[in-house]
Amino acid sequence: MKRLSSIKSRITMWYTAVMLMLLLIFISAIIVLSYQISMDSIENDLKLQVVQISDMVKARITESVSETVQSKEYKNVAIYQKNGEFIVGHNNEKLSGIAFEDKSIRKETVDGQDYIVYDILKTSAVGNSDNGYWIRGVTPVDDFGLFGETTVIALLIMLPLFLLFAALGGYYITKKAFAPVADIVGTANEIYAHNNLGERIPIKANAHKDELYELSLTLNKMLEQIEEVIEQEKQFTSDASHELRTPITVILAQGEYLLDIAQDEKERELAEDIVYEAKRLSTLVSALLLLARIDKNRQKLNMEDVSLSDIVESVVYTQRELAEEKNIKIITQTDGSPTVRADEALLSSAVNNLVNNAIKYGKENGQTIITVTELDDTVQISVKDDGIGIAEDNLDKIWTRFYKVDSVRAEDSKSYGLGLSMVKSIVELHSGEIGVQSVLGEGTEFTVTLKK
Ligand code: ADP
Repeated sequence: MKRLSSIKSRITMWYTAVMLMLLLIFISAIIVLSYQISMDSIENDLKLQVVQISDMVKARITESVSETVQSKEYKNVAIYQKNGEFIVGHNNEKLSGIAFEDKSIRKETVDGQDYIVYDILKTSAVGNSDNGYWIRGVTPVDDFGLFGETTVIALLIMLPLFLLFAALGGYYITKKAFAPVADIVGTANEIYAHNNLGERIPIKANAHKDELYELSLTLNKMLEQIEEVIEQEKQFTSDASHELRTPITVILAQGEYLLDIAQDEKERELAEDIVYEAKRLSTLVSALLLLARIDKNRQKLNMEDVSLSDIVESVVYTQRELAEEKNIKIITQTDGSPTVRADEALLSSAVNNLVNNAIKYGKENGQTIITVTELDDTVQISVKDDGIGIAEDNLDKIWTRFYKVDSVRAEDSKSYGLGLSMVKSIVELHSGEIGVQSVLGEGTEFTVTLKK
């Protein structure tokens, strides 16, 4: 169905239909004309034979007239008595019932067969009107035969062949002309599927310099520009994070020093604030640096066989205090002890983020279930909470950097809206997939699938 609705097919169908119409009109005209011409020639021929015999007939039918009218040359002519009785010539019995009409050329039909009939009444030379003769010419006609063999061949063989040739030729030409559109669609799909802005629309050296060629060039220029802007942005994030790292480390160290030497409660509070914010900033900068490195394909992976149960265990340990604060029970369900080839630190950080979210957005006295399932070629880690859930409209936005579903609520917690985009980048870096299912007010489940 898709093929039929393509521009190529529609153009081809349109002009094939127009061509078919024109050919039908043209062929009908030829048929009508050739029918007319054949009919005229048959009638004239018949009339001529009858007139010639009529000129020969005198008061009596002589021997020579008899011979002539019996000859092959006059195979359509016969002579009758005035009362209709056959005398000599080529009598067609079937027409014996057809009345004679003087000098009238006409079409008669007997038993479904058409005949052209022409009669001349030749009254005898002596002037006795009773002694006349009828000279009759009869030619059977076949309507179909009248169209001529060539026309029939043109109709039955040439027309479909011609149409097929025109349709195939036209389709081939439009297909070639629209090839750049297929390339544009292919490139767009490639960019979309692999998130690869480095793709360009292929432009053949011998391509026609038409509108589609111009469009391809323009789109390639546009892609070039977009890629450059994004590249600059990534570079900016990377540079800015680098630049921020040292001062934040200094602030954190000095804050911790201040905390140590705090003299009273006021000084302690101030120092604690500094340390808290410096740690927050440090986490943010680390996340930004990691994302920048992944974006620029500069993140080195330290791949090893990693036990998922170990990862889950250490994440649960890290998150236990936070869970206790909200009285959230963490339940782990690990099926055997599956391992995957992965960068342990990165994968831990991803699982940690998911569990941290489950607790952050989980309801008090609720539970978080972490399940590790081993399938044929893959291993799945799912983190499920019974918390606030995410509205369906927001589900596809949560992977966006700095996106927070409820920014006011998230403001006072330790969130930047970077966690899930980092998790997604890490999972994709491991050629894995991440999915989410959520019901607002009931809970959320994130599932990470990794190849073994
Ligand atoms: P944040 O640092 O804000 O948690 P994330 O990128 O981890 O950033 O998450 C983005 C947003 O997705 C969060 O602000 C939150 O609204 C929503 N979200 C993430 N995980 C959950 C969850 N388990 N339950 C409900 N909402 C969640």
